[in-house]
Amino acid sequence: MGFKKLLDELNIIARCKKYGISIWQCPQFLFVLMGIVIMITAVVTYTLGTRVAADPETVLLIVLALTVVLFVITFSITRSLEGLAEANQMKTEFINIVSHQLRSPLSNLKWALELLMSNHLGEIKEKRSEYMKILEDNTNRMSELVADLLTVSRLEQGRFLLNKAEFSLTDLAKEIIAIHKPAAEASQIRLKLEAPGNLPKVYGDALRIKIVAENFVHNAIRYNKDKGEVKVKIAPKNKSLLFAVQDNGIGIPADDQKHIFEKFFRSKNALKSQTHGSGLGLYIGKMIIEKSDGKIGFKSEKNKGSTFWFLLPIKA
Ligand code: ADP
Repeated sequence: MGFKKLLDELNIIARCKKYGISIWQCPQFLFVLMGIVIMITAVVTYTLGTRVAADPETVLLIVLALTVVLFVITFSITRSLEGLAEANQMKTEFINIVSHQLRSPLSNLKWALELLMSNHLGEIKEKRSEYMKILEDNTNRMSELVADLLTVSRLEQGRFLLNKAEFSLTDLAKEIIAIHKPAAEASQIRLKLEAPGNLPKVYGDALRIKIVAENFVHNAIRYNKDKGEVKVKIAPKNKSLLFAVQDNGIGIPADDQKHIFEKFFRSKNALKSQTHGSGLGLYIGKMIIEKSDGKIGFKSEKNKGSTFWFLLPIKA
């Protein structure tokens, strides 16, 4: 992995292509070019210097010092250019994903509205409420996406403050299960809680932790199969409590597993089984759990199921 990373670092052309800019604007290429220019200048200056000045050692020292200074300046300029190029590339990727995610609910809204306004449905009450439901679902999808994007931007800018206190993970799990029971029952999925009595409280921001736990349960239902099972388990582990959500759903292909906490990442099989989704929930979850001094992880097997878990400290 280390060696592969080094090779990737050295493959300048591939890295420049990634930014989608010409080679003459590419920071890595400019850095190598500047390096060559600096070295040639140093050799020329040294040769000319030794002809004019009497002491070749002084000339060598001056040339060396100048070369180092030039290298440092060039390095810092190319680094900042690289940062800009990366930010630019992420912006393009971001706009791409967001516009795709917004396009389908928007077009659903459009045709449902057109139908409702065209009077084609006449007085058929059931049809009207069916289309109203489509309007509601799609508006919800868009506002969820916008809320997730806002959370990501707050987390990335460090403007996401945690209000930590002791709270009961079992109560939180019960609340989440009650919210998601109807959706689970609609797909004939059994939703169970396994938590021993008198567990200690955990320390964290209950509202933020709820976002993470709810996403686990929501995903376990969405990426399950009909008549599947979702088990929420809470158990003590050292000085922490373990919160795990196990399902026997579609699982995650081995190749995709290393990307699962990356921003916007959705695995191939998930894209097929659930067209809706932003790939932001787990990215947000990882940041919240790490900010809460906890740990997050999962294990999964394609077509068998997944278990997503986090650990939270018991005491401050
Ligand atoms: P979203 O569900 O909106 O795509 P998430 O960040 O919550 O975003 O999840 C990212 C990806 O992780 C999903 O698209 C899916 O590929 C995978 N994933 C998460 N939970 C599960 C699960 N319980 N079973 C299978 N795949 C899952």
